[in-house]
Amino acid sequence: MNRCGVTVLGATGSIGLSTLDVIARHPQKYRAVALTAHRDVEGMLRLCRLHHPEYAVMADADAAQQLAAQLRRVDGDIEVLAGEAGLVQVAELTQADQVMAAIVGAAGLLPTLAAARASKRILLANKEALVMSGALFMNEVHNSGAELLPVDSEHNAIFQCMPSGYRAGREAAAIRRILLTASGGPFRDYPLEKLSRVTPAEACAHPNWEMGRKISVDSATMMNKGLELIEACWLFAVPAQRIQVVLHPQSVIHSMVDYLDGSVLAQLGNPDMRTPIAHALAWPERIESGVDALDIFRIARLDFEAPDPARYPCLRLACEAWELGGTTPAILNAANEVAVSIFLEGRIPFTGISQVIEHTLGAVAAEPADTLQRVLDANAQARFVATQFVCGQGWRSGT
Ligand code: NAD
Ligand code: MG
Repeated sequence: MNRCGVTVLGATGSIGLSTLDVIARHPQKYRAVALTAHRDVEGMLRLCRLHHPEYAVMADADAAQQLAAQLRRVDGDIEVLAGEAGLVQVAELTQADQVMAAIVGAAGLLPTLAAARASKRILLANKEALVMSGALFMNEVHNSGAELLPVDSEHNAIFQCMPSGYRAGREAAAIRRILLTASGGPFRDYPLEKLSRVTPAEACAHPNWEMGRKISVDSATMMNKGLELIEACWLFAVPAQRIQVVLHPQSVIHSMVDYLDGSVLAQLGNPDMRTPIAHALAWPERIESGVDALDIFRIARLDFEAPDPARYPCLRLACEAWELGGTTPAILNAANEVAVSIFLEGRIPFTGISQVIEHTLGAVAAEPADTLQRVLDANAQARFVATQFVCGQGWRSGT
């Protein structure tokens, strides 16, 4: 039997490593044909030794040189590529049947679009790419016949609860609402007046999920849920008004679909990304993922509540950006990426994240998001404005 070739974009990250863990459990079915990373040479070297891909790509050119030098001693058959061109090349490889899009942030946009254009099965974790370029990306998927499978746990859950034969991007019949669950992050019950003093380490300590640092902070601000709301609107062709965000602290229900007849379908499981990854890899079949069976007696109870708007201003900003449309979600995403990285460096308080985003949304004019260039320009301009605001007088007088 021919093994399914998988390109893993963002292989050294949390999703990338979980993907390779699932692939390694099924050596007869899957093989990693290409792995990519930003600049973690040691991490990539380790993965190359374990998975023997045909290609290893480092987005950073110096890191690519170092990797090539070290690999020559270990495995001279692996071709090392560099930069965005290398990322795009491995997203389009003929021998890659599936592309796991797990680069974090806007850096994943071009390779993810390339995978769509090349009609791949795309396992989509990189929600930022879809938030930035939703209309363009979904058009590319429709026109090329690419297959789109959501990996984000909520969207994967919703996909699993959709009517049989459902394909991402289509409107599903007889659905009243989507219930998008959220843990509320580490500060769900934290005193509001102390939020300005929380540290990056505290913000990254998610109660239920182990994830990369950027998405961990996004979960703490609930910008993650805002981005996911936009992601759900594109993936499931529903208006935002029909998506209800629900705080569910246990993270056992990964989201729900509410049908016209009163049936509410939910997907449950332990909070471990190998479940949605295995689902997307094997769909429409099922394979083992290495995730423990859910112990329903240990969980014992499931709680639900509405999110408090005062605690999560980023969620409101994301909803507003979606309603404004055009390049506004790309501006929102870029400002958030800048704000989160500056917060992680300890240069702005946690509560400054939403202020940077709000300022940037007010300062950068939105355009129709009808060409890739317009999306990229909005991204660049928003990064510039957000950085200026933090570095310059704007931030100091604005706080
Ligand atoms: P991570 O920070 O752990 O890993 C990010 C990966 O992207 C790494 O391999 C890194 O080398 C690569 N990368 C970073 N910057 C890059 C650049 N400029 N160019 C090329 N490559 C770059 O992140 P993660 O938690 O694995 O998240 C990856 C994506 O999946 C994000 O979009 C996130 O929102 C989404 N996601 C993650 C989880 C999770 O549980 N971790 C869940 C749902 C969705
Ligand atoms: Mg999610």
